[in-house]
This record gives sequence, C-alpha cells and structure tokens, in this order.
Amino acid sequence: MDWADIFIYDTTWMFAVEILIRVIVMFVLIISFLRFTGKRGVRQLSIFELTIILSLGSIAGDPMFTEDLPIIQAVLIMSTVILLYRLCTWAMMKSSRVENFLEGKSLYIVEEGMLVLDKIKKGKMSHDEFFSEMRQQGVEHLGQVRTGLLETDGNFSILLYSPEKTRYGLPLFPKQYQALEQIEPETYYACMHCGQVEHLSDPDQLCKRCEDISKRWAKALNSEIVR
Ligand SMILES: [Zn+2]
Repeated sequence: MDWADIFIYDTTWMFAVEILIRVIVMFVLIISFLRFTGKRGVRQLSIFELTIILSLGSIAGDPMFTEDLPIIQAVLIMSTVILLYRLCTWAMMKSSRVENFLEGKSLYIVEEGMLVLDKIKKGKMSHDEFFSEMRQQGVEHLGQVRTGLLETDGNFSILLYSPEKTRYGLPLFPKQYQALEQIEPETYYACMHCGQVEHLSDPDQLCKRCEDISKRWAKALNSEIVR
C-alpha cells in the first residue's frame, strides 16, 4: 500500500489550483441557481422539491474536481433542471391535478378528537410519527384536538378545541398510552387504535368504531391544554 497514492496520486500543484477555481465558480453558480428557484429557504421539503435538490446536488459536485468536465456542461444541466422546476411550479398553480401528482395531498389525520379511520386502516403512516408531532405542539391527548392535518411538506397542522370544549381522548405520551388489564366502572377509555372513547364493561371489548382485533384500551384523559 502506497500512502502517497491514497492521498496524492497524480495531483499536481497546477491541478490543485484548478480545483480551487472550480470550487469557487461552482459555489457561486449553485447559490445563483438556488436563488432562481424562487424559494426563500428550506425547512421541510416535499418529495418534488427534494428531487430538485438531489439532482442539483449531484450535478454540482462533480465539476468541482473532475479534470475533463467543463463547467459549461454543469451550467447547461442545472439550467435545464431549474427550467423544469419553474415549469412544474407554474403548472401546479394552474392545475390542482398536477399539484396533487407532484406534491401529494394534505391528509386529515385527526377529526373531532379521533384518528381518521380510513387513513390508519390503509396503514399509510405510523401512530408514532404524528403522535410525536402533536406532543411537540403541547398536546397531551386527542380530546384536545379538533382537526389535525398532515401537510405535503411533512408538517403537521392542528386546530385545538377551546378549553371548555375539551373532551375525553386518547393519551399521546408513552406513560399514559398503555393498554389496561383491569377496568373500573364509570371511567372513560380510549381505543388505542383509533381514539374512540367509551365506557367499558370488559377490558377485551371490541371497539365499535374501528373493530381492530388488538382490542387495546388506555385510560382516557380530559385535561385542558396549557399554553
Ligand atoms: Zn377503535
């Protein structure tokens, strides 16, 4: 094994200087092209935007250090990608069908303090994902949530019940989100699969709403949200 081969190989001082210039030029180009997307910044990306960033990223790296790759080719490719991006955003503004195809639709996850049934039945998402989102917004149980919407960029928007309208709901924090073995009378329990709340006569009762076979119930909470 030759250490000089690993670290230097055939790099000359001349090529080192060329790399320096290539990196500076590409750096300026990348910033300019990203400004052309018209976006102000990046927090969460939709799949469509991620595609753009990934393709720009792989185009941008190679010309920085590849000797026989002229920068003009990278400029051509990046221009084409940005042009396609602008074309797609324009088409999305004109047609909601194009928008749904490229960005996906926002999905209702919670309605009236319960999880939306057909969404959880299709198994499109795990409880964990949006439970954590709701916890981070200070929600303790589903009875505090009137509406929960999963946005196309992965953000989670929620509308809360006013404090006096808070109802019993499924707890979202791990210590309370526990299946019970024993039940007490006159107590509300929440189905751990769909959030349905009812009195129980038997800990193995089938949930009338989702009819999920796991039959797991947690003690429902009705605390008001504290902000
Ligand atoms: Zn249920």
